[in-house]
Amino acid sequence: MPASSTVATAETSLTILGGGLVGSLLALYMARRGFPVQVLERRPDPRLAGPIEGRSINLALSDRGWRALEGVGIAEEIRQVGIPMYGRVMHDQQGRLTSQPYGAKDQAIYSVSRAGLNRTLLDLVEQQPGVAVRFEQQCLNVDVRNRRLELRDVPTDTVYEQQYSRLFGADGAYSAVRGALQKTDRFDYSQSYLEYGYKELNIAAGPAGSWQLEKHALHIWPRGQYMMIALPNLDGTFTCTLFFPYEGPHSFAALQTPAQVEFFFQEVFPDAAPLMPELTEDFFQNPTGSLVTVRCFPWSYQDSVLLLGDAAHAIVPFYGQGMNAGFEDCTILHQLLGEQDHDWQAVFDTFERQRKPNTDAMAEMAVYNFEEMRDRVADPRFLLQKKIESK
Ligand code: FAD
Repeated sequence: MPASSTVATAETSLTILGGGLVGSLLALYMARRGFPVQVLERRPDPRLAGPIEGRSINLALSDRGWRALEGVGIAEEIRQVGIPMYGRVMHDQQGRLTSQPYGAKDQAIYSVSRAGLNRTLLDLVEQQPGVAVRFEQQCLNVDVRNRRLELRDVPTDTVYEQQYSRLFGADGAYSAVRGALQKTDRFDYSQSYLEYGYKELNIAAGPAGSWQLEKHALHIWPRGQYMMIALPNLDGTFTCTLFFPYEGPHSFAALQTPAQVEFFFQEVFPDAAPLMPELTEDFFQNPTGSLVTVRCFPWSYQDSVLLLGDAAHAIVPFYGQGMNAGFEDCTILHQLLGEQDHDWQAVFDTFERQRKPNTDAMAEMAVYNFEEMRDRVADPRFLLQKKIESK
């Protein structure tokens, strides 16, 4: 792509920035409505990396997510590779277990692979006529008044411009599209971080790919000021997520050496630690992620730009509803387009007015649920700080 060239796109075409979970599902919905769609994604095509390598990162898919997948006819396909979790199993510090069902018998949320879901969606998107997915295209800027994107072709490091007629920002919690809307008049914006980060770890498979913990459950190790959870994968492993303070006596800052990490896990997660043979490598190699809530309004600019998914409403993960809510955005948008006969201005107005109170409520409940787990679950009886420091 030559530097500073302008690529025109057809009047009716839709440009989706971000080919993650929400962007790819949105592309599928819009393509099936007959729109030409172009998806621009910063990262390389995840399907070219071959079979899913490395550790699986999984997500809990629940009702609003399933409805969105049913809407494009792929719920069954995904269900085949998901693991139903019928309840949660709590692990106390003595390794004793208690369980709580999620609902009536047979009601479950599902553990699904993030990468697998994204790949399936991208495969289906590309099977639709009139859809182009362009990977390694990073948006640098959006000129919302002139409907122009500034993009960087990542492999050649070339910057160029492209016109759009309608733009959907599905580019996640740190959205470039939202960044452009922030410079428009009367755009409300706030972001707040928890003083906690998260780290993904791994419980190994047992003999012949068996599960070393109850397979059909979401596991929780609540410890007052922090907690670990684990969701099952198809290969017998579990992906664990440790939600942990950045600072303090029990925190990322306090665990600086492999001996400290091993000691801490053996003391605090005694039934999980022996199942985590690569604990220290994972702990020091895997990044520490931050936990942000993003609120903004409006989500649209005239009838030409709309934010969806985390770009509009990133929430902390303690209700497992971020992706599910983003998927629901796609269902609602699709429904409104039908009801309002593709009057985009009316659709965008209704969409943001309808969705905003719902996603605000989810954001609040997610933080509340974290506080509930953090503050109302009994604190470990003794402080490990001194013992950790001596390691
Ligand atoms: P993203 O998944 O962030 O995708 C955005 C895409 O846009 C990416 O592919 C990115 O590369 C691309 N992009 C970004 N910037 C640019 C740019 N400038 N130019 C071009 N492309 C760009 N949700 C659940 O429902 N259930 C769960 O169990 C759950 N667990 C979670 C656990 C953790 C630890 C975390 C952090 C989140 C969890 N979530 C969960 C939330 C979920 O991950 C998000 O809500 C979901 O990924 C949002 O999808 P999205 O497509 O809007 O954004």
